[in-house]
Amino acid sequence: MAPRRKKIYEGKAKILYEGPEPGTLVQYFKDDATAFNAQKKATIDGKGVLNNRLSEYFMTGLTNIGIPNHFIRRLNMREQLIRQVEIVPLEVIVRNFAAGSIAKRLGMEEGTALPRPIVEYSYKNDALGDPLVPEEYIIAFGWANQQDLDDIVSLALRVNDFLSGVFFGVGIKLVDFKIEIGRVWDGDFMRLIVADEISPDSCRLWDIKTGAHLDKDVFRRDLGSLTDAYTEVARRLGVLPANATNIKPTLIN
Ligand code: UDP
Repeated sequence: MAPRRKKIYEGKAKILYEGPEPGTLVQYFKDDATAFNAQKKATIDGKGVLNNRLSEYFMTGLTNIGIPNHFIRRLNMREQLIRQVEIVPLEVIVRNFAAGSIAKRLGMEEGTALPRPIVEYSYKNDALGDPLVPEEYIIAFGWANQQDLDDIVSLALRVNDFLSGVFFGVGIKLVDFKIEIGRVWDGDFMRLIVADEISPDSCRLWDIKTGAHLDKDVFRRDLGSLTDAYTEVARRLGVLPANATNIKPTLIN
């Protein structure tokens, strides 16, 4: 066993450890899956390995088109080095098509195209089940100010265009996704960057031809093997060799 680093935080799907240099952290991807505010739980063999790889792929893509994010480099199968940020306590959700909570709330059929991408916010608080909050609350309670929100919307829409295009290229429709945003300081100057992870845990991904779910809804709705769904996404993106059927023999560094 490698010497244990100091644990900074443990969440539902990831653990953060102290990084090798100040201002860095090591993000470890667990195999744990939770849904419905952790009322449904399971351990899914290989999920952490796949999400580490997939988040690396998307964050590197963001870096390559100039969208600032926390990713520095992947360390091994389950860990990546990231910039330490101060997380804005919001889940920033971008929707292209109705699904999940918006479909329920507005009585829309899942899959209905929205008139334009909709950005909405949930307040990150497990005890409250991450409630949807309006901008008014965010500003009044000081979670972010108007300038921050303008920057967050701009980042979220750029990420949406990037991810939508990447997924479209491999026959997948990006229905919606969630990102988290972190603050970093250069002296007195504060910047907002994309943080946390981008993976099928936090996106809705539908096969364009068949409509098959290739995301965490497979787990939420008991639609089959989550590992198979995530492996398929990774394989199409070239993150896994094209002939990979199973992550174990192929995903070694
Ligand atoms: N999402 C997430 N974490 C959350 C809530 C939502 O990653 O705690 C993602 C979810 O996977 C989906 C999008 O955000 O891609 C929109 O989710 P929605 O509000 O429809 O909630 P859900 O139906 O997933 O509860």
